[in-house]
Amino acid sequence: MKIAFLGLGHMGLPMARNLLAAGHEVRGYDVVPQAREAAAAAGVPIADTGTDAAASADVVITMFPAGAHVLEAYRTGLLDAASPGTLFIESSTIAVADAQEAHALAAAAGHRQVDAPVSGGVVGAENATLAFMVGGSDEDFAAALPILERMGRRIVHCGGPGLGQAAKACNNMILGVSQIVVGEAFVLGERLGLTHEALYEVASNASGQCWALTTNCPVPGPVPTSPANRDYQPGFAGALMAKDLGLALEAIEQTGTDARLGRLAQQIYAAFAAGDGATRDFSGIITDIRDAS
Ligand code: NAD
Repeated sequence: MKIAFLGLGHMGLPMARNLLAAGHEVRGYDVVPQAREAAAAAGVPIADTGTDAAASADVVITMFPAGAHVLEAYRTGLLDAASPGTLFIESSTIAVADAQEAHALAAAAGHRQVDAPVSGGVVGAENATLAFMVGGSDEDFAAALPILERMGRRIVHCGGPGLGQAAKACNNMILGVSQIVVGEAFVLGERLGLTHEALYEVASNASGQCWALTTNCPVPGPVPTSPANRDYQPGFAGALMAKDLGLALEAIEQTGTDARLGRLAQQIYAAFAAGDGATRDFSGIITDIRDAS
């Protein structure tokens, strides 16, 4: 397959490298010269422009910071440059409404298109162990699957256009809310005289069990690999959680959902990310809870 890979940042570069390693003919592009240079140094052939890469590709993958970048690229030449029937895989994390608009633009230009946001972070991108949540038709999903399998391990067809982003927003809302309440429970326990070990032993074997506790435990000790053991070095940075909950909030408002905890979690992480939480793991929210208690 000839693949244009656009957006060679933290995630895009290792993803493009995995496609190259799988034998695909990849040409990459990034608007930032340093990103292009880093990608070239890592062995990714670089095109003169994004549209140039798209013009000769069977598949165009975008991995951009936000929805505005995707819609702008789609509107300003990318879709026009590609041959009709090109498969567009949009892997950035963007709003459901933006993903649906991007799909409509691609379809109107005669292309196939899926939204395929990821979870798993830079480590997952490097090791080709990302999880992909895919929105699109059965045919487009089937066409994208062999490409996604070279970059990820768990690939779920979530439904029609935009529903990959919907699944990601809903999952991260669960995660964001549960990480806050796990932090609150540990701080409450501290103030009641409960040790971290005792609370962990009880909750991890009882109905309080969840990923935020048993993998991303916000206190050092019970789970030696959690970010709390390395001063909340991410992991999953607070800025990314704040971004994802902002997208969940957009979907909450668009649908009129009575998601009070989702709304509150968005406010809490926005405040966290406005300070040094931006670059700390989101489980570091426990230190804000402790400081405010
Ligand atoms: P990043 O900022 O490191 O990389 C994005 C790249 O896209 C940048 O280098 C930017 O210059 C480039 N870009 C923007 N517009 C472009 C255009 N028109 N043409 C070509 N290049 C363009 O971001 P990242 O950490 O790689 O994340 C990418 C996406 O993946 C985001 O939407 C993010 O929310 C999502 N995501 C990130 C992580 C993570 O751990 N970093 C995890 C899951 C999902």
